[in-house]
Amino acid sequence: MRIGIGYDIHPLVEGRPLVLGGVRIEHPLGLLGHSDADALVHALCDALLGAAALGDIGMHFPETEEFRGISSLALLERVGAMLRERGYRLVNADCVVHAERPTLAPYRGAMAGAMARALGVDPGQIGVKATRGEGLGPVGEGRAVAASAVALIERAGGGGVSAPEGERR
Ligand code: MG
Repeated sequence: MRIGIGYDIHPLVEGRPLVLGGVRIEHPLGLLGHSDADALVHALCDALLGAAALGDIGMHFPETEEFRGISSLALLERVGAMLRERGYRLVNADCVVHAERPTLAPYRGAMAGAMARALGVDPGQIGVKATRGEGLGPVGEGRAVAASAVALIERAGGGGVSAPEGERR
């Protein structure tokens, strides 16, 4: 088994849609970025890439025309395919969205569902939680939304990395 961690933050601005976990959320402000700026999906992508030691999202999806305005779920799909090609499957992932507003609790199930569909896994394999910034820092002041994620992956078939002979149990 292998574990990975991901983190992302994007500024909240006027005139952009708010998309988190692949779900469009009605809100007067949205996240600014080259893609749809879905900080939650970006954090999950980085956790998955990190678990497989495949670098980071910026390396695979640079700020080129190809990826301008792209749905981050499409990037997550590609990350899922990269892991499958290398013989990995997701055990589970857990995510935290850091946002002062809007209240994200009603969207948690839809976010887990959308990200699970992109990865071809069960929604029960992806945890989504939300927390506020309590008035502190860019998140607490409502100027940004951040997200953190961890992902645990394993070799499909359970092979994994072999331990030295004497250490096998
Ligand atoms: Mg990002």
